[in-house]
Amino acid sequence: AKEKIKAYLDKDSITKDGVKVELGLNIGSASEEELSFEPYVDGVGLFRTEFLYMESDTMPSEEKQFRVYKKTLTKFGKKPVILRTLDIGGDKTLKYMELPKEDNPFLGKRAIRLCFDHMEMFKTQLRAALRASVYGNLWVMFPMVGSVDDILRLREIFNEVKKELDEKNIAYKDDVKFGVMIEIPALIIISDIVSQIVDFASIGTNDLTQYLTAVDRMNPDIASYYQNYAPSIFRTMKMAADYFNKANKPLSVCGELGGDLIGAPLLIGMGIKKLSMNQASIAPIKQMIGQYTLEELKTMADKALNMHQEKDIKKYVLEEHKKKG
Ligand code: PEP
Ligand code: MG
Repeated sequence: AKEKIKAYLDKDSITKDGVKVELGLNIGSASEEELSFEPYVDGVGLFRTEFLYMESDTMPSEEKQFRVYKKTLTKFGKKPVILRTLDIGGDKTLKYMELPKEDNPFLGKRAIRLCFDHMEMFKTQLRAALRASVYGNLWVMFPMVGSVDDILRLREIFNEVKKELDEKNIAYKDDVKFGVMIEIPALIIISDIVSQIVDFASIGTNDLTQYLTAVDRMNPDIASYYQNYAPSIFRTMKMAADYFNKANKPLSVCGELGGDLIGAPLLIGMGIKKLSMNQASIAPIKQMIGQYTLEELKTMADKALNMHQEKDIKKYVLEEHKKKG
């Protein structure tokens, strides 16, 4: 059965009635092994750049980052590469940087909040990314964005870095897209506004679930409260999908739910036509997509959105899959 699923790897990701669903790859280190999946996907939907920082004993230099970003962008050519800026803090630490001691690190100085405090580190990363942009199709995405204030501040920093490059006559592409991760629920509530002021967004369901339901994603003792398929999760995501579709701005899902056989059909059905996932999910998700028409997926999503409990949604989707064999 494993071999049979593998056969779907180089198939196109289209529904039974021919609707294209864009599949992105989640990568961390940009190793040869990760990049070898390029032929099977439509781009990189999430490049978790913090791994470059975590694997190193010292702060990775601009040159080192530039080389890795350039390699990735070159490999993917015209296909978009969504580079997420440093997401450290929470459970992720660095050997060479003292992080503040906090009672609630996941609610603390994580990701952009930390970067705002370490502006030279932040700008170094953005400089490396922008310089590499000439080699491919770069989209830059910021993690843990929680407000319009955050977005405006990020825009300003992004533009400052561009201006500094201009002054030194260093080349970068002018059409690099500026986007945010949607993983703090507050951002979904204002996604009508957000969709107007960013070029794109991607939903991080791992953190969205944690923050929406107030359940620490790292604590095994409360794992049963961490419900990926809770109706509340799907309903909030539907809100973002509607506003982003209305604004005609790309919205994807790059959290685990996007590569999940129960989550993905419902996300597509509610209008999210871009999913990003780990290597192992590509073939099974392509196979699943090919079994349904878009209309069937829409019906499934509509039904699921009206269910009361996670277990109902789970059972329902699994039954539908079973009917397809
Ligand atoms: C997420 O939160 O869903 C996500 C994709 O980011 P990470 O898992 O790296 O926090
Ligand atoms: Mg996250």
